[in-house]
Amino acid sequence: MRSTPHYEVHAVKYAHLPRKAYEVQIAPDPHDADFPMDYFVWVAIPLDERGDRVVGGKPIVIDTGFNTQVGKSRGRDVVRNPADMLADLDVDAREVEDVIVTHLHYDHIGNWDRFPKARFHLQDKEMQFATGRHMCKAPFRHAYECEDIVGMVRALYGGRLVFHDGDEVIAPGLSVHLIGGHTMGIQSVRIMTRNGWLVLASDASHYFWGIENDKLFAIVYSVADMLAGYDRLKALAEGRVDMIVPGHDARVTTRYPASRPGLEGTCVRLD
Ligand SMILES: [Zn+2]
Repeated sequence: MRSTPHYEVHAVKYAHLPRKAYEVQIAPDPHDADFPMDYFVWVAIPLDERGDRVVGGKPIVIDTGFNTQVGKSRGRDVVRNPADMLADLDVDAREVEDVIVTHLHYDHIGNWDRFPKARFHLQDKEMQFATGRHMCKAPFRHAYECEDIVGMVRALYGGRLVFHDGDEVIAPGLSVHLIGGHTMGIQSVRIMTRNGWLVLASDASHYFWGIENDKLFAIVYSVADMLAGYDRLKALAEGRVDMIVPGHDARVTTRYPASRPGLEGTCVRLD
């Protein structure tokens, strides 16, 4: 009998943005030309010993994406709302009880209102960052949406926020880990799968070039923490870099197989 519960894990791509290296990297290599950015939410679904979904098992959603209105205001098109896209995997956003918020940037928490029963799991430091003195500075404030942060304060007073400080287990086989770097309180998620530990880096590494080449994304709270974070992600994956999934790399949808026939290019299975 296996000791740790397993999950199937999917990335759901809900938006796309063409980008150039100089827009996304600190000190970009002039030979690095196009770095298209895809936008994802992720979901982990518990499996039984035979690899079938646990009857009555509770899916855990990681991040909620941005909505059409905010996307439009920032020049990004939403293909479909990610809360709706989860239905393609038989996950009903309205019934989800746990949402892990890797960080509070607009493209990770935007559809919080589509998860009416959810508790939101967040690092202490991320709430501190998003509501504290650093938001007096426009470069830090830029990727946050005031209404999302207000929504999280309302969720806090509604008893629906769960704070974490560092490494914590959310459910057997699934844990969060404070990484920092990109924001003060960004966390990554480690999940036990049929292939071993899978690490959803989220924006602790936007692209494969972060973990593979120590390149730096242009939105950063601490360069030191971002670089140390790459090492931490590799340690969490027990050295298997192929088990680390970056937050925005457009190659994710081609590197992994479709979650189901018909979902090619939008939902891919990561384990
Ligand atoms: Zn992001």
